[in-house]
Amino acid sequence: MKKSYKIDVDCANCAAKMEEAAKKTAGVKDAVVNFMTLKMNVEFEDGADPKAVMQDVLCGCKKVEEDCEIYL
Ligand SMILES: [Zn+2]
Repeated sequence: MKKSYKIDVDCANCAAKMEEAAKKTAGVKDAVVNFMTLKMNVEFEDGADPKAVMQDVLCGCKKVEEDCEIYL
């Protein structure tokens, strides 16, 4: 399952950090952050609950970049 989320982040460097954090989150198969469009595309593992996984993704992203936001 794939879902797209709107994000807010100040620069491409931080966007890359968010992408790395999202990829490391349990339940995430793959994640791509596009700084130009401020979108995060997430592919979830089979059976993963996107809502629960995205809470962990947001938490992980906040750790690497305090000022980022993901609109869930
Ligand atoms: Zn930045």
